[in-house]
Amino acid sequence: MKERKFWGWGYQDQVLSNEEDAAIESLIAAHFSLDEVPTLPIPLAEDIDLPTPRVKIPQTLEKVLSEDHLERLNHTYGKSFPDLARAMLKEFPHPPDLVAFPDDQEDIVNILDWANQNNIAVIPYGGGSSVCGGVETYVGDDYSGVISLDLRNLDQVLEIDTTSRAARIQAGIFGPALEDELKKSDLTLRHFPQSFEHSTLGGWIATRSGGHFATLYTHIDDFVESTTMVTPTGVVESRRLPGSGAGPSPDRMVIGSEGILGVITEAWMRLQNRPIFRSSCSVEFDNYQKALNATRLISQSGLYPANCRLLDANEAFLNSAGDGSKHLLILSFESADHELGT
Ligand SMILES: Cc1cc2nc3c(=O)[nH]c(=O)nc-3n(C[C@H](O)[C@H](O)[C@H](O)COP(=O)(O)OP(=O)(O)OC[C@H]3O[C@@H](n4cnc5c(N)ncnc54)[C@H](O)[C@@H]3O)c2cc1C
Repeated sequence: MKERKFWGWGYQDQVLSNEEDAAIESLIAAHFSLDEVPTLPIPLAEDIDLPTPRVKIPQTLEKVLSEDHLERLNHTYGKSFPDLARAMLKEFPHPPDLVAFPDDQEDIVNILDWANQNNIAVIPYGGGSSVCGGVETYVGDDYSGVISLDLRNLDQVLEIDTTSRAARIQAGIFGPALEDELKKSDLTLRHFPQSFEHSTLGGWIATRSGGHFATLYTHIDDFVESTTMVTPTGVVESRRLPGSGAGPSPDRMVIGSEGILGVITEAWMRLQNRPIFRSSCSVEFDNYQKALNATRLISQSGLYPANCRLLDANEAFLNSAGDGSKHLLILSFESADHELGT
């Protein structure tokens, strides 16, 4: 597996060229009227000391637990600005004592059993792209240790039901691998958060993530048919039904649970046919209020654009879409079965 940066977004070998660095520095300098932009060197794993793990790996779990230095660094924080700032400053006072890499649900049950008996906190970890402290391993002094439980080995599409357009999928699969697998059946989950490349199905469900599609199916909630979650006291599995009005939905408790109730191991997800017809355009506005009104009218019109994204002039400029003088509304439509007018 390619090594991800513990101090930034993406893989270790994905760094900016000197020219790209210089271009960003001059943009920041111009924006904040600075004469020069101070920079920090990229931190090296070997320059960072970590506290010794407080718990010993039991023989029965040797296969799935690790105290590897780089893995502990990589599992200390998510990817918010404060996370990356602390990583750049080499501040890692509370790394996980151990990192777990279970191969299957049984491993997870065994890890939770052992952790429960030994007062060790367990924090599920998908892609680690959390921006709200969800994977951070600081748990205070009430626990004798903390484990970051990485789902990366539970990464398979287990079953595809093409008739009902649904699939049973393991929680640790990353966005690109999932879509590659579904593509073989001309299907898609069509859930594309901006962090798609470095986030997982389990993470999407646990955080109630939103994809970039603007209307109709936007949130992961829309696609979940049933879930399986290992909790410290047993496995919870909801029934796979096309729809149900029988009492409160158990999945509603799992979706958005942010890892505090248990570890989601797999889910049946509703799929869609892959869109093959697409049409898109952008509309420029001088006046932001008019751009807002247009966006509201389109979202209330029943047209259901796949994308309906309003960038103010500043954001448009920072995304290299214009010279910063116009607000930009990006619109797109797509379909799996009929052509779209332009
Ligand atoms: C550049 C960037 C862009 C982003 N874009 C979006 C976006 O467009 N839309 C959006 O909604 N969010 C976005 N996010 C936030 C983040 O990517 C999402 O919250 C994503 O769903 C997290 O998935 P993950 O696999 O990385 O989960 P992690 O970050 O590993 O975990 C997130 C939380 O879920 C829990 N968790 C993870 N896996 C499981 C599991 N199997 N069982 C139980 N709990 C689990 C963790 O304990 C943690 O609390 C973005 C973040 C970044 C850095």
